Amino acid sequence: MFLVLICSLVYSLHAFPLPVKLVDMTHTFDETVIHYPFVNGFQMETEMNGTELNGVWILTEKYSSSIHVGTHMDAPLHFIPDGLAVDQIPINHFFAPAAVIDITEKAELDPDAEVTVEDLLNWECLTEQSLNGTIVLLKSGWGKRWNDEIAFLARRMVDMTYTFDEKINHFPIVNGFKKDVVLNGTGMGNMWWLAEDYSASVHLGTHMDAPAHTSPTGLTVDQLPLHHLIAPAAVIDITAKAELDPDAEITVEDLLNWESITGHTLNETIVLMKSGWGKKWNNQTAYLGSPDLDISNAKFPGLAPEAATWLIENRNIYGYGTDAVHLDKGSRSDTFPVHQTLLPNNVFGLENVANVDQIPIYGATLYVMPMKIGGGSGAPTRIIATYPEVIYDTLLSRK
Ligand SMILES: [Zn+2]
Ligand SMILES: [Zn+2]
Repeated sequence: MFLVLICSLVYSLHAFPLPVKLVDMTHTFDETVIHYPFVNGFQMETEMNGTELNGVWILTEKYSSSIHVGTHMDAPLHFIPDGLAVDQIPINHFFAPAAVIDITEKAELDPDAEVTVEDLLNWECLTEQSLNGTIVLLKSGWGKRWNDEIAFLARRMVDMTYTFDEKINHFPIVNGFKKDVVLNGTGMGNMWWLAEDYSASVHLGTHMDAPAHTSPTGLTVDQLPLHHLIAPAAVIDITAKAELDPDAEITVEDLLNWESITGHTLNETIVLMKSGWGKKWNNQTAYLGSPDLDISNAKFPGLAPEAATWLIENRNIYGYGTDAVHLDKGSRSDTFPVHQTLLPNNVFGLENVANVDQIPIYGATLYVMPMKIGGGSGAPTRIIATYPEVIYDTLLSRK
């Protein structure tokens, strides 16, 4: 009887299956999988496609990818040195009820929303179930953004430009910024107007040094290729040594170190010096490193001439920017060797770049928008950085 009962139960399960809804909770692995730039994306290539194996038609591929791409597991070992590896997790933990914590509403209002203890207790109270033995799933509505990389990896924007006004730091060898109000009140057509004229050296404030600045055959600011102006930022952090020594320079070792920490090449980037000098912007003598504003006494960090030569000979960078006043360090203001090396090779310069300490050392894209001054050796430049809003700045800052 017992046996018969079991059989009929099995029979009935097969004959009249309960309506079970199956949901695939996996994003497809292909080249479009969204990932942060510091991990490798998914790549697949064909190994065999056709009748190359004894006339038998066969299709095979090989693939490569970071383990942390797409729908994937973070094993405890990922962040705890003695945590379980992916092959050590008890398999009964893979079969468990899902406890879905819905924070869609607050995530819609604020991309910074988090699951709180209250949300967890709320779930237990609503479902009258315990979270014990479950797999807790965050439901935030973010999945809708999967096909839109920019929306999925919420991006932060940083203005890397100082405001152009009369207070801009400069050596007396260049002209400061002047603005004259031409109209301010009711004028033409009995309408209210505000209009100004301005004048300044093109080498003032946050600005570009076009190659023509130190090279008779170099490109002028209006001739630079557009794709050189929107490019990844490679931030070389020398804050620690610049704090000890205002004469500090970016060395070849610093450049190679950046490549080894990030696992990326400097090719096709805009290299930025991060020296902490931006904090001195509101103190002209500290920023220029010269109490009498005499350029021959200047002290501030810069790129080493050997490093500039190394970049030209070994890498293909689009530009080099600094958070200080000149590409060359202050004490090299007699011969300006970095200007002499980079610009004639059509690498542009950016000077007085603001907020370099607000972007990660890798992962930001720079939008460099110099005013299109015909035949200009330089131009005031609006620089905006965007980067995915994540914690990887701290991950990548480790040395
Ligand atoms: Zn300049
Ligand atoms: Zn310059």
